[in-house]
Amino acid sequence: MAADIIDGKKIAADIRGEVKEQVEELLEQGDVRPGLSVVLVGDNPASAVYVRMKAKACEETGIKSEVIKMEKETTQQELEDVIDRLNADPSVHGILVQLPLPEQIVERDIIMRIAPEKDVDGFHPVNVGRMVIGDPSAFRPATPAGVVEMLMRTGHDPSGKRVVIVGRSNIVGKPLAVLLMQKMKGGNATVTVAHSRTQDLAAVMREADILVAAIGAAEFVKGDNVKPGAVVIDVGVNRLDDASTEKGYRLVGDVAYDEAAEVAAAITPVPGGVGPMTIAMLLTNCIKAAREISGIS
Ligand code: NDP
Repeated sequence: MAADIIDGKKIAADIRGEVKEQVEELLEQGDVRPGLSVVLVGDNPASAVYVRMKAKACEETGIKSEVIKMEKETTQQELEDVIDRLNADPSVHGILVQLPLPEQIVERDIIMRIAPEKDVDGFHPVNVGRMVIGDPSAFRPATPAGVVEMLMRTGHDPSGKRVVIVGRSNIVGKPLAVLLMQKMKGGNATVTVAHSRTQDLAAVMREADILVAAIGAAEFVKGDNVKPGAVVIDVGVNRLDDASTEKGYRLVGDVAYDEAAEVAAAITPVPGGVGPMTIAMLLTNCIKAAREISGIS
């Protein structure tokens, strides 16, 4: 059996098209252009690439974006001062501080400093709490929201299904479990969260109707970990050395794709699966922020 490929690039392009229409609507309805400010501290090359991709996606959809670059020696106070300024600026609807931050900065305090109504990453405890209680005003973190969206848009409604998520991080595994268990559209699944202490992980994974890998270990999930006919969502992004490529490496997911695709009914590729969805969902959060701050529903 060859699995259907869940094309995250295509779904993300559709969502970007919808975001563009909403930007035009906001301009017409209230002369409001959604604005996102991204703060990049230091010179982490991967972070610089992610920030560029986010800024480009904003540009394409008409969202105004600015990237604020700060030295890697930036102090806690300097970064907090920038956040305070952005919190107070009415033309800024979304604030995103690219993680990870240099070690002298206390990440948790920075996340707490962002006004919850501008926290388009959905990492502020106020938004996390709202999400847990099913409050629709919460910003949903982009990667988990992207996973739910791609399931729904490809006819794989998780309602009633047994979902196994491998990974329990605060940015992927935990919030995804919360979204999938909610009593609302895109939820209603029976969710198991597995991690490095899970006993007999192979058997747990094989119970899944929808198996999500968010581990950070290249090709960890093998074909025989997948129940025949399951849907496999691969969140992982890992570099594998590969001298045959121009860059000297290639990107692979947490799932051994070829093996899993033999068994699964549908699967996301890496790259081109969850990654593009993450950026698309960030844009939808910017629209949500602009609507709520400007009072245009
Ligand atoms: P973390 O390192 O924060 O979490 C990894 C999780 O996997 C942990 O819960 C850990 O368990 C679990 N784990 C690690 N090894 C094993 C193992 N041998 N058996 C079972 N569980 C294990 O990673 P993130 O959640 O931040 O990211 C996961 C992956 O997703 C990465 O590859 C990352 O690059 C990618 N990613 C992709 C995004 C995208 O947009 N496509 C966005 C964000 C992340 P424990 O808690 O017990 O340590």
